[in-house]
Amino acid sequence: MKEFELIRQIQQETSVSYSPGREHGVKLGIGDDAAVLEVPAGQHLVAATDTLNAGIHFPPDTSPFDIGHKCLAVNLSDLAAMGAIPRWALLSLSLPRADPEWVHLFSEGFSSLAQAHSVTLVGGDTTSGPLSISLTALGSIEPGGQLTRDGAHPGDLVVVSGTIGGAALALEQLQAGKTALERHLLDRPQPRVSLGRSLTGYASACIDVSDGLLADLGHILRASGCGAKLEIEKLPHTRVLAGLKDVAKWRYQLSGGDDYELLFTLPPQHRAWLTTWSQTLDIRLSVIGEIEQDEGIRCLGKDRKEYHPIQTGFEHFRAGS
Ligand code: ADP
Ligand code: MG
Repeated sequence: MKEFELIRQIQQETSVSYSPGREHGVKLGIGDDAAVLEVPAGQHLVAATDTLNAGIHFPPDTSPFDIGHKCLAVNLSDLAAMGAIPRWALLSLSLPRADPEWVHLFSEGFSSLAQAHSVTLVGGDTTSGPLSISLTALGSIEPGGQLTRDGAHPGDLVVVSGTIGGAALALEQLQAGKTALERHLLDRPQPRVSLGRSLTGYASACIDVSDGLLADLGHILRASGCGAKLEIEKLPHTRVLAGLKDVAKWRYQLSGGDDYELLFTLPPQHRAWLTTWSQTLDIRLSVIGEIEQDEGIRCLGKDRKEYHPIQTGFEHFRAGS
């Protein structure tokens, strides 16, 4: 099987059918030297790209379906964290060999998520080499509507969607040769696109949790020039994490990555929206802390006693209380 046959297979198997009005301005898609796209009038283009390398960004035994899902999911998560509407994707595939069955399953995983978010694959590149998938997601947003990292203010609530720590636990279990009961959290993250859209105009800062809660909150705090208090017992956890001892659980929740939940700050006057968003989007939203003037992150554990995580992220902590 040659390169162009693989490309044709990807094109056929990822082509999605849209409801009228959702064609997304593709003037020219796969098949020419470049795609031609029409950004809706008055909107700005939003672009994000992420690479997944086998064995580094996903366990080597990850199914092609899940790889197809995840490469799009992590990029849609970046668009979600900006508050953007996803529209198009470009896919760079490096494959060890031309394997139509692998491409078929990959395309299925990719397409099911693409369809759910009306994303059209409009181009890419196909090469031979170690398994690596690079995806560029393009979306659009109303001018000035983007959720950036630099707008948090003292007094804002710190909020996180879904649960955190589950993906890191699953990864560690797999690496130790154990079964991971919640492996889906690692393999099939759900990008919080609708939540990101809802947050525009309300959240003061937003990021998606890919590197770990402390690291990603640290990015918001550094960009915004402030600090935060975190109430660790309020961190939302999964069923499996609930069974762990506090310190072990907190380690996954504070320092684990790969959750792809949204972490945002919300001025307190908008607090009532949390209930509305949570109900209309059927998503858990937890207030886990508050933005403070002094830099650094203060973690409050049981009985509001200060807790000093020994794992990564330590540099974000300020000494004493
Ligand atoms: P060129 O040599 O001009 O870069 P290619 O032969 O690499 O063209 O690609 C031909 C067409 O197929 C282009 O439109 C390109 O965007 C598309 N394409 C190639 N690989 C992929 C892929 N993995 N996914 C989607 N589109 C692809
Ligand atoms: Mg090319």
